Amino acid sequence: MNALIHQYPCLSDNFGVLVHDPATGATAAIDVPEAAPTLKALAEKGWTLTDILVTHRHADHVQGIPEVKARFPAARVVAPAGEADRVPLFDIKVKEGDTVKVGSLESQVIETPGHTIGHIVYWFEGEKLLFAGDTLFSLGCGRVMEAPMAVMWDSLTKLIALPDDTQLYCGHEYTLSNAKFALTIDPGNEALQRHYAHAQALLAAGKATLPVALGLEKAINPFLRAENAAVQKSVGLLGKPPADVFAEVRERKNKF
Ligand code: ZN
Ligand code: FE
Repeated sequence: MNALIHQYPCLSDNFGVLVHDPATGATAAIDVPEAAPTLKALAEKGWTLTDILVTHRHADHVQGIPEVKARFPAARVVAPAGEADRVPLFDIKVKEGDTVKVGSLESQVIETPGHTIGHIVYWFEGEKLLFAGDTLFSLGCGRVMEAPMAVMWDSLTKLIALPDDTQLYCGHEYTLSNAKFALTIDPGNEALQRHYAHAQALLAAGKATLPVALGLEKAINPFLRAENAAVQKSVGLLGKPPADVFAEVRERKNKF
């Protein structure tokens, strides 16, 4: 648990995150939604960028890379193998099971196709950190645009399997609108009601709602709860396969 984390807002609702290893001085950016706030964050911290870990190819996650790399030419751009060709200036491609080091910190690559076909997330097991990009949000999940719903459900089950005390970081601050939808699916969930109030208070104080404990998300995020009877019943699919329940919840969110 030696990593230092700095999260900062980018664009209208994206997050940038820096992961710093004090032992070696290495610093990774998780995606680069926007160059200026990323360079400012690095300058404020006095950290030298050594790595850029890309979750997926969408512009709001990679468009800041060229400008940041011009300032830190040695920074290595790590890109998902499934879509690396569409990530600017990528240096290496990584796939499921690969290890990505940031100085002495180690992360594992988990492939989570669905939002995009090549989407990956980075899990720092020793640091109990998960950088989920646009696969998983607090109380939500990414729009499923490039794979069948069942494939996205498989991706989410990989994240459900991670330890409860993992800190979840995401690509966007969508918690409030996600909470409003989640309450339509799971209105009797008291932990969800409490977290909605907590998130509102954080935002009112000008703070981010992320990170959040993955264990809490498992208890309140309807997209992770396709096996829960209350969620199944709420969408009229009690006892049905979780992939079908997930698909129905996601369809309802698309129309919400
Ligand atoms: Zn995206
Ligand atoms: Fe995004």
